[in-house]
Amino acid sequence: MKAFKYLFLRVTLLSLLVISVLSAALYQLPVDNSYVTATFLEFRSTGKTPHFHSGIDFSTFLKEGIPIKAVEEGYLRRLEIDLNDIYGYTVVLEHLDGYRTLYAHLSKFSDNAEKLANMLRDEFGSKRIVVEFLSNDVKVAKGEVIGYSGKTGEAAQAHCHFEVRSKDEKIIYDPLDFLDKGALKPVQMQIILKRIVVDGVEYDYVENANYKFKGSYPKIAVETYTELAKNLLGVKEIKMYFSGNLVYHIILDRLPMEYWEKPYNLYNEKTLMTAIIYRGYYNLYAEDSLPFVKVNSIDKYSSSTYSVQLEVSDGFGNSRKFSFNLVRG
Ligand SMILES: [Zn+2]
Repeated sequence: MKAFKYLFLRVTLLSLLVISVLSAALYQLPVDNSYVTATFLEFRSTGKTPHFHSGIDFSTFLKEGIPIKAVEEGYLRRLEIDLNDIYGYTVVLEHLDGYRTLYAHLSKFSDNAEKLANMLRDEFGSKRIVVEFLSNDVKVAKGEVIGYSGKTGEAAQAHCHFEVRSKDEKIIYDPLDFLDKGALKPVQMQIILKRIVVDGVEYDYVENANYKFKGSYPKIAVETYTELAKNLLGVKEIKMYFSGNLVYHIILDRLPMEYWEKPYNLYNEKTLMTAIIYRGYYNLYAEDSLPFVKVNSIDKYSSSTYSVQLEVSDGFGNSRKFSFNLVRG
């Protein structure tokens, strides 16, 4: 009996240890008491060419000068000193787990980096200056202030743009998979399915409604998002079922950098972004194989009527189901 008790204790201690290691692996938020105002892989038409939003945005309550903190212990890898580039003043860190994190649109860097930046600006003027740190000379502690919020680069309002990248910076990841989401400011959110595009025609979504399609199989796009306060945020995962069979499945958790300027692989051409309007229509069909399309077997189902169920999930743990019918006509 004693041996059993001992074993139980050992197992309990071990699982506690595992849990604490797992939670220690989560990154802290770069902005205290903040919430997310834009998510990973949203459509962007700012800059020279349409692209994916390659990170998430944290609110700094529209203020400049809010401290931006290292999400994990690591080393300084790069400073980008450039007011005009898309990211403005940017810091890149590398962590012990091998990932890199990027913090953009800063108004200024932390004291030592700001001194270096001032020196380089005196020397090179307003040219784009990129400082790479090849060795582990500048250590950064978890939670250390690495800069201050701003709107340098292509930011309309002050906020913190945050990214997680692979060490070689060839793959970008959804930062929500790395961050301690429990530290986010609690806010009301809801997943909405707003509109459906069938054969180029837009309809408002009505539960269990019939929509007509042409062609050998339905090619549809859906406008769906997470509503958070006044913001519309991009979703993370869409599953489409025909009569209960999974026929299309996208997961937006990572993206090879070579797809950065190919947002129309995911978004319908009706997708729109202006200063005040954001409408992201996700295509629920693809002719090519794409990294974020996990299941694509729509063309294997030939019918004149499809009973469609969509399951939409976001990166915050919300999920919602929708149903409608597609009728050939
Ligand atoms: Zn951003």
